[in-house]
Amino acid sequence: MIIKPKFRGFICTTSHPVGCEYNVRQQAEYVKKQKRIDGAKKVLVIGASTGYGLSSRIAAAFGCGAATIGLFFEKPASGNRTASAGWYNSAAFEKIAKEEGLYAKSINGDAFSNEIKQQTIELIKKDLGRIDMVIYSLASPRRTHPETGEVFNSVLKPIGSQYTSKTVDFHTGKVEEITIEPADDEEIRQTVAVMGGEDWEMWMAALKSADVLEENAVALAYSYVGPEMTHAVYREGTIGRAKDDLEAAAFKITDRLKDVGCRAFVSINKAVVTQASAAIPVISLYVSILFKVMKEKNTHEGCIEQMYRMLEDRVYSGDMKLDSKGRICMDDWEMAESVQSEVSGLWDKAGNDNIADIADVEGYRAEFFKLFGFGFAAVDYSADVEIDVKIDSIE
Ligand code: NAD
Repeated sequence: MIIKPKFRGFICTTSHPVGCEYNVRQQAEYVKKQKRIDGAKKVLVIGASTGYGLSSRIAAAFGCGAATIGLFFEKPASGNRTASAGWYNSAAFEKIAKEEGLYAKSINGDAFSNEIKQQTIELIKKDLGRIDMVIYSLASPRRTHPETGEVFNSVLKPIGSQYTSKTVDFHTGKVEEITIEPADDEEIRQTVAVMGGEDWEMWMAALKSADVLEENAVALAYSYVGPEMTHAVYREGTIGRAKDDLEAAAFKITDRLKDVGCRAFVSINKAVVTQASAAIPVISLYVSILFKVMKEKNTHEGCIEQMYRMLEDRVYSGDMKLDSKGRICMDDWEMAESVQSEVSGLWDKAGNDNIADIADVEGYRAEFFKLFGFGFAAVDYSADVEIDVKIDSIE
């Protein structure tokens, strides 16, 4: 089949297997060129197929030489429908890991469920015995509670009052104003239930009670803070409440697992373009301006540069450089005063007459399509490709 990108808003409904493989291969190549890390050897990545989770898996495998089990919720191809990008990425990851002689297996299913937790634990016991790193990188719009069956939906809304801001439509490059109504208490509760720390705590409790954690295992989850101009919709909005809960969970996990020596940390990562972040209102304008400023300063990073740096310079460096709230700060270059003062000046001026000069909307849009395997110069998009790609370890 010849595959073209089909998108509406922040969703692309097709993805390209050759482009996705190219993307994963490029990330692996980047890591292989860096210094080897004396770090994790057996890693579970929950949310391993796209964005930060995929890059964490690549950084652990090719940076530390780790065996990895990747868990995700993706769709294989069916009929004329391509598989989801995360499916193709994971097929590519396993193929490349195998070429390097690295163990890699994957599980496709709902990480929030008890069944998938059990299936994962059985695979760890059978193949790896114990693991020394757990990376929790889920981003999901909903969660079914494994005990009560309640279905929670997350929303991206401000809290307290209506919020109006400018944003950019990254497809058209048009600057627009949007207004978002505040969340009610029920929406806040449900967003915390989906994106907060409860499921991470459940995972770590299950791994502990199954005795599959090595002594001194490290557990990581990811969060975001960002600057003032995004606070209403992010850090002080519904998702921010969930992140507060996730950050608090790190301390609870460390406390509950201290007898097995496991420590849990949250890493505050940089704003990047992923399927999850593309859905957040206002962020597209901020990220487009941020990319422009950080590229000019030569400090721009994508997921893979961040995740390699996190393992090499923080988690396994002997000094995690934690902030006053005990968090790993991978957003240090994004939040640098010199970057933020420039971004905020450009943000104030941003309008339809100057957007092309002051923001990298084109770069944002290109990153968005790359998430689905489109837009790589080295890939021949006019070629007929097989869409039904198998992930080696999945029946
Ligand atoms: P993403 O959409 O690229 O990845 C989400 C992953 O979760 C995918 O592997 C997907 O398959 C998996 N997933 C979703 N629901 C699942 C389920 N029910 N069961 C199993 N797997 C499931 O998202 P991302 O942006 O990489 O986000 C990962 C984490 O990083 C989130 O905690 C996010 O808040 C955080 N983060 C993101 C940014 C950013 O700018 N993108 C910045 C800082 C922190």
